[in-house]
Amino acid sequence: MGLTGLEIFKQLPKTNTGDCGFPTCLAFAMALSAGKTSLDKCPHVSEEAKEVLGAAAAPPIKLVKVGTGEYAVEMGEETELFRHDKRFYHPAAIAVLIKDTEDVAACVAAFNELEFERVGMHYVTDLVALQCASGDAAKFKAAAETVAANTNKPCLLICQDAAVMAAAATAVAAKKPLLYAATNENYEEMTALAQKLACPLAVKGNGLADLSELVEKITKLGHKELVLDSGNRETAQVVADLTQIRRLAVRKRFRPFGYPAMAFTTKEDSLAEITQAGVYLAKYAGLIVLHANKKAELLPLLSWRQNLFTDPQKPIQVEAKAVAIGDVTPDSPVYITTNFSLTYYIVESEVEASKVPAYILPVNTGGVSVLTAWAAGKLTGDSINKALKENELEVKVNHKTLVLPGYVAVLSGNTEEVSGWKVLIGPREASGISKFAKEKFAR
Ligand code: SF4
Repeated sequence: MGLTGLEIFKQLPKTNTGDCGFPTCLAFAMALSAGKTSLDKCPHVSEEAKEVLGAAAAPPIKLVKVGTGEYAVEMGEETELFRHDKRFYHPAAIAVLIKDTEDVAACVAAFNELEFERVGMHYVTDLVALQCASGDAAKFKAAAETVAANTNKPCLLICQDAAVMAAAATAVAAKKPLLYAATNENYEEMTALAQKLACPLAVKGNGLADLSELVEKITKLGHKELVLDSGNRETAQVVADLTQIRRLAVRKRFRPFGYPAMAFTTKEDSLAEITQAGVYLAKYAGLIVLHANKKAELLPLLSWRQNLFTDPQKPIQVEAKAVAIGDVTPDSPVYITTNFSLTYYIVESEVEASKVPAYILPVNTGGVSVLTAWAAGKLTGDSINKALKENELEVKVNHKTLVLPGYVAVLSGNTEEVSGWKVLIGPREASGISKFAKEKFAR
């Protein structure tokens, strides 16, 4: 919870200079409380007030960065318990586990292949989690160097022996790895190492009470780039811990838990593991470490993440522009759909699969699906006619016949009347396009 306008007002100079762009200090305080301005707009605020207000204005969960450059991973800075209240900001990072006893170069090469295109979006796994399974400082260091040399993505170094960690972390410090983990036994050495190398540090407790105490000890030592691990591994308990951490951070502003949290999967079976990771992703891990390293295993998880971390108030849209699929000719059919990304890409893949070259015309419905757009009056004879004209379909094809989605067959009369195009009623589901196209248009 942030401070109220009156609580903020008490900390301001109350001289009403107007230099902040507001007529009075009270107006500024109210705007600051509502998040509509920032404290630095007042040049007269005292250092003492800055400290009080700055802490209150800080996000409930700190932003922690791992790695550098284009592929740096950001975790935290979440403000909500429930996505529908606003949105979630930083997609949970996915780390794929590699042991230093494996062929690290080959594993990293396979990791680099874990990229996907789906519904016009690019999905990637985010970090290599390199575990010291050998217990050998030289081997772990060499493995860390191999990871750093073979991928631009950041690294999570897993080793609880501070001396072994120091060798590897120092070798790849320029890549700003996340060091896992500070525990009750090693936190002084691990914190000193993380501070010296300016790297984020994971903190592993024995349950939440222990974790909060350990975090306080570490922050007193001056390190505040932290990622939290309750130490539990049983699924229901991990979910309870992650939920408590988020709840206490966001609702109670409990500072020891004001950092992103992480979770490790434990299931051996890959489907069970992805399900477990999916649960952690929803509730509320900022980083998930898993063994799964195959595209078929990871795609559902990354799709789930993509859905969860989009802004629910902004549908994902494609450009409302006619797209030619295959070697179109003036005889090619014209399919009408909407510019809701998911709808468009499903239609696109079915038209491709039909092997009948065609134009797809996604009408601009503000990114909503066919039935929703029809119900909201966004998919109408007029909007279809406008799209046909703007995309010059009359010039592109030598016929005036369009295919309307079967679910909105009710629009056919109005569409024909407004546009002068003949309407063919297409299948209700995109999965019927292939059969429909072969029956109607194949030569
Ligand atoms: S600049 Fe500062 S002192 Fe002046 S009105 Fe704004 S809040 Fe008050």
